[in-house]
Amino acid sequence: MANIAGDGPVNTTISIEEPPRIIGAVTRIYSSLLLIGFALVPAYLIAYLAVFQDPSLKFENHLFHEVAIAAATLEGLFVTYVTWRCYMSSGEPLLRWLTLGFLGFVLVYALHGAFTGLAHSHIWLFLLYGPASRLVMSVLLLVGLLSYNEPPHAVERRTKPRPWLMWFAVFAVIDLAVAYIATSPIAGALAVRLLMEGGALVFSTLNVMALLLRRIRTPLMAIFGISVTSFALASLAFILGKPWNHMWWLAHVIFAAGFFLLSYGVVQAFLTTRSFSTIYSQQDLMARLAEAMARTERALQELQRTNQKLEHLAATDPLTGAANRRQFIQRVEAEIARAKRGGAPFSLLALDLDNFKKINDSYGHQAGDEVLCRFVEKCLEAIRPYDGVARVGGEEFMVLLPQAAMEAARMIAERVRDAIASAAFDSGTGRAVPVTVSVGVSEFGRDGDTIDTIFRVADERLYQAKHIGRNCVVAA
Ligand code: GH3
Ligand code: MG
Ligand code: MG
Repeated sequence: MANIAGDGPVNTTISIEEPPRIIGAVTRIYSSLLLIGFALVPAYLIAYLAVFQDPSLKFENHLFHEVAIAAATLEGLFVTYVTWRCYMSSGEPLLRWLTLGFLGFVLVYALHGAFTGLAHSHIWLFLLYGPASRLVMSVLLLVGLLSYNEPPHAVERRTKPRPWLMWFAVFAVIDLAVAYIATSPIAGALAVRLLMEGGALVFSTLNVMALLLRRIRTPLMAIFGISVTSFALASLAFILGKPWNHMWWLAHVIFAAGFFLLSYGVVQAFLTTRSFSTIYSQQDLMARLAEAMARTERALQELQRTNQKLEHLAATDPLTGAANRRQFIQRVEAEIARAKRGGAPFSLLALDLDNFKKINDSYGHQAGDEVLCRFVEKCLEAIRPYDGVARVGGEEFMVLLPQAAMEAARMIAERVRDAIASAAFDSGTGRAVPVTVSVGVSEFGRDGDTIDTIFRVADERLYQAKHIGRNCVVAA
C-alpha cells in the first residue's frame, strides 16, 4: 500500500494469529483465576496471622498511628479531588459516588487519627470512627457501582454546589452521631463496633457480588473489584483483630492497599478519558486499532482507485477515449526534452476529417459521433503501439510519432490516411459513410524546436492538404 505522503510503502496491518480455540479459552480462564488469586492475597495474610501469630502481641505507638492516618487523610483528600475532576469532565455517575465515597471516608476517618491520644480514656471515641468511615465508603461505592453505565450527568447538575454542600453536612452529622454513640453507654453494650465493621464487610462483599453478577469486565472495573475485595477483607481483619495487635495493623495495611489500588484506577482515568467505563482493555484496544487500520486501508485503496479514475478522466476525451489536448501537450513536451538530450528525432501528424460537417448533415450527429470513435480505432491500428492519438478539436486529431523522422512519419501518415479511406464506416442505417482524412506532418528540429512551431507547421501542411483536394498527406 502506498502511503499518502508518498514516502514509500508502510505496513499498517496488525495480524494476530488466532491460537487454537482451547488455548484461547484456557488462557482466558487462567487470566480470571490470576485476578481472583491476586484479589485474595490479603486473605492469605489474614490466615497466616490468624494461625501463626500470638493475638496478644501488640504494637502500640500513638505517634506512628497519628502520622499514618494524617498521611492517609492527605492522600484521601488528593484522591477525592482527582476523582471529582474526572466527574466534572465526564459526568459519569459512578465517579460522583466515588468522589463522595472518598470524601466521606476522609471526613470520618480523620477523627480516628485525631482521637488517637484518647485511646485509653475514651476507647470508643478512638475506635468507632474507623469502622464508621469504612461503612460510609462501602455504602457509597455500592450506590456508585449500581449506577455504572448510566448516562452521564448534565454539566449544570455536575457543577451545582448545593448537593455537594449537603453531603458535607451529612458527613458532619455522621461525625456527630458517632461521637454521640461513642460517648454513650450503648457503644459497648450493643457491640456497635462489630455492627459497623460487619456492615462495611457486608456492603463491600455486595460490591464484589454486584460486579461479578453484572459481568463488568473493563480494566478499571477489575481494579475496582480488587479494591473492594480488599476493603471487605480489611473489615474482616478488623473484626478478627484487637486494638494495636498485629491483625489490627494488618487490617490497616490491607485497607490502605485497596485504597491505593482504587486511587491508581482513578489516576489512570484522569490521565486518559476521565471516565471509568470508556477505558478499554488491551484486547479491546488491539481489536479497535486493527479495525480502524483496516478501515483506513480500505479508504486509501478507494481513494487511490478514485484518483486513478480522475486522472484518466482528466487525460482522456470521453467520446473516443483518445488522449485530450492537455495530455498530448504533456507527452510532446516530454518528447521534446528527450530529443534535446540527444534522443532520436520525432514527428507530429495533424489530422482533420474531410467534410465532416456534411457527414453530420447527411447522417445525423449521432452517426458523426460513431465515425469519430471508429476513426480513433482505425488510427490506433495503423500506427505503432507507442505512438499516441489525441483529440485536439471537434474532428481534429494529432498523432505523436516518437523516433520517427520526416520520411518515416510521412509513411505512417499515408498508412493512416489509406486505412481511413478504405475502412467501412457505418451510418447506423445500413448505408456506408465515406470518410477520408487530410494530414499535415512536421518534424521536431527540422521544422522548429518549440512546441508552438512544430504544431503550427503541422497545421499549415494540413491546411495545404485541404487546399490540394483533401484525402492526402502533406509532408516536407
Ligand atoms: P473540412 O474538410 O474543411 O475540415 O470540412 P469540415 O466540414 O470537416 O470542417 P468544419 O470545421 O466546417 O466542420 C467541422 C464539423 O465537425 C462541424 C461540427 O458540427 C462537427 N463536430 C465537431 N465536434 C463534433 C462532435 O463531437 N460530434 C459530431 N458528430 N460532430 C462534431
Ligand atoms: Mg476542422
Ligand atoms: Mg474537417
